[in-house]
Amino acid sequence: MMRQYELVDRVRRYNPATDEALLDSAYVYAMKAHGSQTRASGDPYFSHPLEVAAILTDLKLDDATIVAALLHDTIEDTKATRAEIGKKFGKDIATLVEGLTKIRKLDLVSKRAAQAENLRKLLLAIADDVRVLLVKLADRLHNMRTLHFVLEEKRSRIAEETLDIYAPLAGRMGMHDMREELEDLSFRQLQPDVYRSIESRLSSIREKNAGLIKGIEQELTSELAREGIKAKVRGREKRPYSIWKKMERKAVGFEQLSDLYGFRVVVGSIADCYAAVGIVHTKWPFVPGRFKDYISTPKQNDYRSLHTTVVGPGRQRVELQIRTQDMDRVAEYGIAAHALYKDSDKSNGEILPHDSNAYAWLRRTIEMLAEGSSPEEFLEHTKLELFHDQVFCFTPNGRLIALPRKATPIDFAYAVHTDVGNSAIGCKINGQVAPLVSELQTGDEVEIIRGDAKTPPAAWDAIVITGKARAAIRRATRSAVRAQYTGLGRRMVERAFAKASLPFSEEKLQAALPRLARHTTEDLFSSVGRAEIKPDDVLRAVDPEWRGERVTGAKTPKSEGGWFGLRRASSLKFRIPEKSKEEKTAAIPIRGINGELPVRFAPNGGAVPGDRIVGILTPGEGITIYPIHSPALKEYDDQPERWLDVRWDMEEAVPQRFPAQVGVTVKNVPGSLAQVATVIGEHGGNIDNIRMSGKSPDFTRMVIDVEVFDLKHLNAIITQLRAKKVVSAAERVNG
Ligand code: MN
Repeated sequence: MMRQYELVDRVRRYNPATDEALLDSAYVYAMKAHGSQTRASGDPYFSHPLEVAAILTDLKLDDATIVAALLHDTIEDTKATRAEIGKKFGKDIATLVEGLTKIRKLDLVSKRAAQAENLRKLLLAIADDVRVLLVKLADRLHNMRTLHFVLEEKRSRIAEETLDIYAPLAGRMGMHDMREELEDLSFRQLQPDVYRSIESRLSSIREKNAGLIKGIEQELTSELAREGIKAKVRGREKRPYSIWKKMERKAVGFEQLSDLYGFRVVVGSIADCYAAVGIVHTKWPFVPGRFKDYISTPKQNDYRSLHTTVVGPGRQRVELQIRTQDMDRVAEYGIAAHALYKDSDKSNGEILPHDSNAYAWLRRTIEMLAEGSSPEEFLEHTKLELFHDQVFCFTPNGRLIALPRKATPIDFAYAVHTDVGNSAIGCKINGQVAPLVSELQTGDEVEIIRGDAKTPPAAWDAIVITGKARAAIRRATRSAVRAQYTGLGRRMVERAFAKASLPFSEEKLQAALPRLARHTTEDLFSSVGRAEIKPDDVLRAVDPEWRGERVTGAKTPKSEGGWFGLRRASSLKFRIPEKSKEEKTAAIPIRGINGELPVRFAPNGGAVPGDRIVGILTPGEGITIYPIHSPALKEYDDQPERWLDVRWDMEEAVPQRFPAQVGVTVKNVPGSLAQVATVIGEHGGNIDNIRMSGKSPDFTRMVIDVEVFDLKHLNAIITQLRAKKVVSAAERVNG
């Protein structure tokens, strides 16, 4: 195991200003915290965070990252707390370690394809400091290197996760060595036979071509030197996984793969890069279509280089990457290279205050991560802001639930399952009892406490922010309300039967359903409960011989029951339940194609069947029905988009009353008012209200609110009024 001073030495080699005391105390703290814990290999557990820190020293990272690596498993696995780490090592390091602790919960999540995208987003959402990702990748790399110690049944899951999530992440961050090693280690676990066969062919070719790489390196170097370009040339063999991918992609066998070798040519300046590629192309035939200029158009992850393939010495196809020292550093370390570069550039090792812009580059690199656009790259077409609108929480079993920001535990409960939402009565967030209206944060573990209730409080509708929760709550409240009405309606029908001395029977009701325009007895009871159908109507439908209270004249009950509907010309059909008198002014709920739109009649002289009508849409309010001749419609002349083409869709069998207004001028003689009322009553109209609107010595002007069945009925009443001697004028009024 690496000693304390060895670690400090490794850091000091690239960062002379390192804070040795800080590194030392982190080393001691983590070692003590992990105490006698051991790894699957039997090694002391502390060897793991130490190795992770060592990997990061290869990437030449800053002290905070190295310390975070040493501490990365302490919060989760030992008695150490965030508060204690904050006190001992400062807020910056504590935040890094906490980020790593949250990400570790990911390892508990069952790996399902549907979750992969969320997991990637989560990684980025949590790691608003890119150093958290760097430590996580180093952590994963060490775990993959020691995978063979882990229980057999766990290995493949870890390897799949590495291949799906962490290797692409490393690639996206420009850390190609890291990516390739992670891929190869996963590949070896997941397809051991394929891996071995590629590995053995590679080694036989290696023997056959012994000295080839060296030869090409030398020839390239001297050829460039002759033209005055100083270049460092390094050759390397492709890795098994990338060979395998290529075989799959091109559907070719191993023998047909030509470019097994790649060479890097590192030169002094950009001008030299272009000069070098010119020389190479003159000297050896190049493969058409393989030249790529990533210097003038860098990749998203800042990668810059010239690429070309030539048929080199020994008729081998040779891939070349030509670039400067700076470009090479970025190509090798990716994001980590920026860390190093900025560190040495800015301050000669001086520690910058945390509230300065020193870490602005971290944010930029994270944004860059999220904006990748090439298909092989990570998180294409997605911007980081997207993740800022989301929170990622966990069930106690480790299932990941993605929610919009400001979501509550109620939203969480419905996201898990509708039944969980409907029966939720409380919750625990990270083990603490918390209100159901709390705002969830990324990384929260949420446990929903369930009760016996099956119906959520209707008020939740205003609290939740997810559509799924809102829809479920409305559905549950609606069916609860319906159940109440059904129960009420059943009692009313039973009582009516008893009063009429008729034996109550569901079979009889069943038979009468078509006459009542209902599909089920449930529907029927619910309608009676809502006062849409009177119990007497039910009795009449069951027993046509039954004579109950007859409907006559002014005594006609206000709510005659039944339905009417409006139909849009385009076959959109509204069915509007009649409201009781008290609710006349309230909105009438209907179910249209776009959810629930309240429908109401224009105040003062609404439409009656027979009138041509239009609907006027008021966004946020609903639809108001006007007779086509209403003067009020003038107001909407210049807003054609608000006009809805609607028409009556009456069911003749179940008559329905509508409010209308009649203006009447009567002579001031005794009993004139009574005569008017009698005419209306005798002809089946219901007087709702009478207002005196003007008085002269001889005449009284009044407006009568009257309920009629339709236009014919209204006109008949007006004609009868005009026929009376006391009436000098009668006409319909439309407000
Ligand atoms: Mn670890």
